[in-house]
Order: sequence, then structure tokens, then C-alpha cells
Amino acid sequence: AGRLFHPEDSIITVGGRTIGGKKLAIIAGPCSVESREQILEVAEKVKEAGAGFLRGGAFKPRTSPYSFQGLKEEGIELLKEARERTGLPIVVELMSPDKLDLFERDVDVIQIGARNMQNFELLKAVGKTTKPILLKRGLSATIEELLMAAEYIMAGGNENVILCERGIRTFETYTRNTLDLSAIPVIKKQSHLPVIVDPSHAAGIWWMVEPLAKAAVAVGADGLMIEVHNDPQNALSDGNQSIKPEKFQHLMESIREIAKLQ
Ligand code: PEP
Ligand code: MN
Repeated sequence: AGRLFHPEDSIITVGGRTIGGKKLAIIAGPCSVESREQILEVAEKVKEAGAGFLRGGAFKPRTSPYSFQGLKEEGIELLKEARERTGLPIVVELMSPDKLDLFERDVDVIQIGARNMQNFELLKAVGKTTKPILLKRGLSATIEELLMAAEYIMAGGNENVILCERGIRTFETYTRNTLDLSAIPVIKKQSHLPVIVDPSHAAGIWWMVEPLAKAAVAVGADGLMIEVHNDPQNALSDGNQSIKPEKFQHLMESIREIAKLQ
């Protein structure tokens, strides 16, 4: 993952779109796929606002085993329908190697969640595929540990790794996590891999998503991952940090202003 071995920025190609390089990659969609109506509506709206990729969780890593765990295979089917309608490639979290065949066949970008950043068997398994892997920084992982986790995937032969800063645990409790903005310039210096920012899981609060997204773009992030829901108050996961499609549209407009200034 080090720049020493690969001085140029890596650009990952996904279904005719790119992550890394000059253009910002915008991944948006709900935390979890909840129903056909929900995912199709959100997919159409984020596409309209200018997102390049659709996200949606089907297998969810929830803190409580009694919380909604995702629609599983049915969620993937609904995401495929949303992809067919909008043309947006889909980004979905994989939690265990036993679902890898399904993900290789049906998903465009495989997400490895914060809680699995050091699940080395999972990292080795996705290292054997050629699919782009979106690797999220662990809850309390250092930048070095994140880069070493990427190394596990790359050592298996898969160099299509995208890193994601999504906030880390600190002593601050106002926000869900603390967005480590410094990680972006550090990673850009140390590594050739694209790095995107997820302000939704960092903040945990919907109204902070736009200002943090702007900051992320200003410090040089290659893209953003934003949770968007058509009815955040009734969302089955992460409603507090989810923004409505109208707010997402507004966020996209402010991002365009920052990108222009750069
Ligand atoms: C998610 O993207 O919905 C998610 C669970 O993120 P993280 O792994 O960063 O907590
Ligand atoms: Mn979420």
C-alpha cells in the first residue's frame, strides 16, 4: 500500500466509474436495505442528486443481537434491482467469507466494515478476489493498522483497495465517533490507495454530515460515503445520522463549491 513502491495515485475502476484520481467518488444510500420501495426511492433520488454509487447494507453488524440484522440475500436482490434501474454500481458490506461467492457474483464493491478491519481471515478471503474492496478504518485502529489491513488484502493479489476514514473512538461523547480529518493527508502521503470519508458514521448526527463532508473534501478525500434515507425517523438502523434526499442534494451542491475552489 506504500507510496514508495507505487508513486502514482491508484485509480480503481468500477463498472465504468472510478474511485481515486481527479473526480470525487460519491457513494450514497441507506444504512440498511429495508424494503423494495425504500431502496428504489433512495436510489433514484441519490442518482438524481449526482451520486456515482449506491450503498445499502444487507448483512448488518449490529451492536445488539436483538436489533435489525438486515434483509440478507433478499437485500442483495433489491440492490440489484436498484442498480438495474439507476445504473449505479452497488457497495455492500460482507461480514463473513461464507457469503463471498454471492458477493463476487452480485456486488460491485465489497465493503469490509470497521468491526472487521482486523478480521484477517476475511481480509485474506477478499484478497483472493478481483473485486474492489472498500476497507473501513476500525473503531480504534491506528492509520498504520489500517494500512496493514489493506496490505493483507493486497498480499493475496487484490490491489483494488479503497480506504475509508469513518471516525474513531476518543474521549468525546457528543459525536458518535471523532472524524480524524488528519488521517486523509497522512494516508495520501503514505499510500497510493484512494481514501474516502464517511461523515455519517463519524458524526452519528444528521446535521453534522454536510459540514464534515465539506471538510473531508477540503483536506483531499477522494470521495464520500453518505447515509441517505427517505424516512430517517423510522429507519431500522442509523436513522439519527441519515439525511433525507433533499438534504443530500444540498450537500452535493456545497461539495461542488469546495471542489471548485481547489
Ligand atoms: C455501515 O457502513 O453501515 C457501517 C456499519 O459502517 P462502519 O463499519 O464504519 O461502522
Ligand atoms: Mn450505518
